[in-house]
Amino acid sequence: MPAKTLAAAVLAATLGTMTMNATAAPSVPPDSRLSADNPFARESTLPYKWPPLDKIQNSHYVPALEAGMAEQRAEVAAIASNNAEPTFENTIVALERSGQLLNRAATIFFALSSSNTNPDIEKAQTEMAPKLSAHSDSIYLDPALFARVKRLYEQRQSLKLDPESLRLLERYHTNFVRAGANLSEAQKKELRALNEKISSITTEFRQLVLKGDNAAAIVIDDRAELDGLSDAQIATAAEAAKSRGLEGKWVLTLLNTTGQPALAQLKNRSVRERLYKASIGRGWGGEFATTKAIAEIVKLRADRAKLLGYPNHAAYVLEDETALTADAVNSMLHQLAPAAVANAKREAADMQKLIDEQAKANGTPSFKLEAWDWDFYAEQVRAKKFAYDEAQVRPYFEMNRVLVDGVLFAAQELYGLKFKERKDLPVYQEDVRVFEVFDHDGAQLGMFLFDPYARSNKRGGAWMNSFVEQSRLFGNKPVVTNTLNIPKPPAGQPTLLTWDEVITAFHEFGHALHGLFSDVQYPQFAGTSVPRDFVEYPSQYNEMWATEPRVLANYAKHHQTGAAMPKELMDKVLAAQKFNQGYATTEYLAAAILDQSYHQLAPGKTPSAGEIAAFEADALKAAQIDFGPVPPRYRSTYFLHIFSNPIGYSAGYYAYIWSEVLARDTEHWFKTHGGLKRENGDLLRAKVLSKGFSADALTIFRDFYGKAPEIGPLLEARGLTGGAEATAN
Ligand SMILES: [Zn+2]
Repeated sequence: MPAKTLAAAVLAATLGTMTMNATAAPSVPPDSRLSADNPFARESTLPYKWPPLDKIQNSHYVPALEAGMAEQRAEVAAIASNNAEPTFENTIVALERSGQLLNRAATIFFALSSSNTNPDIEKAQTEMAPKLSAHSDSIYLDPALFARVKRLYEQRQSLKLDPESLRLLERYHTNFVRAGANLSEAQKKELRALNEKISSITTEFRQLVLKGDNAAAIVIDDRAELDGLSDAQIATAAEAAKSRGLEGKWVLTLLNTTGQPALAQLKNRSVRERLYKASIGRGWGGEFATTKAIAEIVKLRADRAKLLGYPNHAAYVLEDETALTADAVNSMLHQLAPAAVANAKREAADMQKLIDEQAKANGTPSFKLEAWDWDFYAEQVRAKKFAYDEAQVRPYFEMNRVLVDGVLFAAQELYGLKFKERKDLPVYQEDVRVFEVFDHDGAQLGMFLFDPYARSNKRGGAWMNSFVEQSRLFGNKPVVTNTLNIPKPPAGQPTLLTWDEVITAFHEFGHALHGLFSDVQYPQFAGTSVPRDFVEYPSQYNEMWATEPRVLANYAKHHQTGAAMPKELMDKVLAAQKFNQGYATTEYLAAAILDQSYHQLAPGKTPSAGEIAAFEADALKAAQIDFGPVPPRYRSTYFLHIFSNPIGYSAGYYAYIWSEVLARDTEHWFKTHGGLKRENGDLLRAKVLSKGFSADALTIFRDFYGKAPEIGPLLEARGLTGGAEATAN
């Protein structure tokens, strides 16, 4: 459940809302308000409509976005005021064709704001965000426009539409209704006020959390207390102290998660305890308390759900996800919880044994494993069980080989794809590589941009993006990107990856394939435009090929000698993947359950600020996931995913593991159907990877898998099976 997935989904969601109708096609002349020398003014004439990245300057974005919104407003006004009877063509397809300039500009603007930003882009982002959001509202809450959509929707069965067109009409209707188009003018006013309040309190929540994180850093007076940290980490702590005017001391700063990396290394148990308690204590009182904001957010969301006709906020959110209902999400989370906790208890027992043995050997009293001890002893158990170190494996994972002989090789074996590197197209940074992708019959399929290295102007994590989305409506072939954050070696040295980075490369290419194989009529349904709890399915599935023996043998070769990776070493790497999964799954599920607990409350039932602590404890207890040594990954008071954004991941934090269920089922299907072969790859492509969102996501999955998703393969993959004997712990 990497941060990369979150970032990609957030970006997709932002773009999806903002440019809801936006597409890219040549039918509308360049907007006259935009200077003709602005590179966004007209569609690119480069192959695959590749963006003219060599011509785009910071000063081009704001005018292009402004002109793009004006153009779309005019297009939408023309649709809404059309005197002709509404038809699918003059209303729905016309909406789908609107906003092309806005889409061209916004796509590159948001892509580069993540992968190659600068202060001008950041400034433009702050300036444009509220304008783009108001632009979207002005379309969704336009009564004349909605009246046309609604009339078509009501006649939909008699319009003789093909299935994808019928679905497009239904989706437009759904999007309008969910945005409040069916409400009376008075209710719309109330909705706008609620949205505004939620937006301002969620912003306040974020600011309080960031300040609270800062304030909760712990001060260390004696260097000896930092025993276990590296010299570099200690120097960083000294710097942090200096910057706070505490010269001569050390400051340990906090990450936003409950767990803190230093807990794995700090030998001094009472310092671990201090650090941990500072972490879980954030936001409960004092200047940066967030409990009041939480109470308000949860209440306002419940009120808004009621206004829109839903029993609670989760019902509103989940209706539009693959999961569909809160019951489905609860059932999945509650099936997983006991298995995860049982496994965490097994892991705890291993560590307790180690603690007791060490105490006996040292002649000191033993103690009971606490949450602040977990990482410290987990590291020791890990070192004992799977003795290998990254320095041994990295020489076998040279980046170019991993990409070409691993990631792209697997796609060649499964789908018959061919890749040809191109050097003739403009890129935004010199390390970026471009590959043209050809189908099994030699036909042009799309373009793949690979941006591997970490830079100070790139945000953290890894993600996939689209520069051009596939659609038959505009004859567009996909242009997709993968962005990673691999440290760049000194000039002349090879780039050697860690095992995690290898997996990330396969993961992101799974998203890329979802974009490249897209074969839909309408841009609205292209590639990865699927619900949040489905979008991580193709990517998590694609990770399986990293360990497939034939793929592995093809790429895992020593970068100097070309020797194959020794089997014993690879076996250790693979076995270590299941280590500590009880902890990882439990802390994740606890947070996902908290999220659902808050957002499944009806209006009038939400807790007050003073009741948040008890509410949290009760929710974890009721779900039987309240195992002391494994706290939630985020406690309520610093749970940014669900409280820091108007929608964000509220009622949606479960999405990562929901997608993973589908991915592991698919992995299981491949393993029982002969694995790596064209026939299997082609079937997945035809039934899933080419579909985008042109059909309901669960239908897409069932059509491939032959039945509803099952949880068994995920339990197996995470090593969570065999819970029964452990419940005795
Ligand atoms: Zn992902």
